[in-house]
Amino acid sequence: MERLLEVCGDEKDRLEGASAERVLAWALERFGPRVALASGFGAEDVVLIDMWWRLDPNVRVFTLDTGRLHEETYEVMEEVRRKYSITIQSVFPDREDVERLEREHGFYSFRESIEARKTCCGIRKVEPLRRALSGLGAWVTGLRREQAATRVSVRSVEWDAANGLVKVNPLVEWTSSQVWDYIRKHGVPYNALHDRGYPSIGCAPCTRAIQPGEDIRAGRWWWENPEHKECGLHVQSDNSDRRQSN
Ligand code: SF4
Repeated sequence: MERLLEVCGDEKDRLEGASAERVLAWALERFGPRVALASGFGAEDVVLIDMWWRLDPNVRVFTLDTGRLHEETYEVMEEVRRKYSITIQSVFPDREDVERLEREHGFYSFRESIEARKTCCGIRKVEPLRRALSGLGAWVTGLRREQAATRVSVRSVEWDAANGLVKVNPLVEWTSSQVWDYIRKHGVPYNALHDRGYPSIGCAPCTRAIQPGEDIRAGRWWWENPEHKECGLHVQSDNSDRRQSN
């Protein structure tokens, strides 16, 4: 909380409930070249790329290429890259860590236990994220409260204590319908898997399609309980009234 006040003053409170465009515009203005969008190229992420591009064509976006992504994810990344003429910075895991993980634990160790799954996410996502965020003052994410039990208290502007910078979540109040209305209205490219029953898309072996009526994150690590379904990218956001660690 103290660090958030130090960096953002009471602007963070004024931004709660503000439109997504206003929150994003504030982040671009406040942090300039020291803010970037972390994108997994799901529906929310492509909305934010389009929204950013309309505010400023110099979109700074990075993606964590875990080595286990769906082909459709690479396809939408390429489509977005070409449509907006932007550079997408892909960030890879440490080669030696991945080689050791696969040599010592095989290629599907993440199915063996929550701990093993978190080890894989730690190597393929969390450590690369830390590297991608180093030097930044803020990062932008497509988190929405509606997405999961672990995200109900997310705020528009938070202090990311785990990574030591501000985290900006412009779509925090959006519903899934708002996301899709925006995509259709602006003709934003999106991951083809969304049309095949995948509302939430991560690594290929850890994501499956869901049935009508199932929770939107039911297809992520479907063998785990909902309260464990975070990969470690979104932890320890620190606000005056909450401290969440998943
Ligand atoms: S989502 Fe699955 S494959 Fe991807 S990093 Fe996490 S455990 Fe590993």
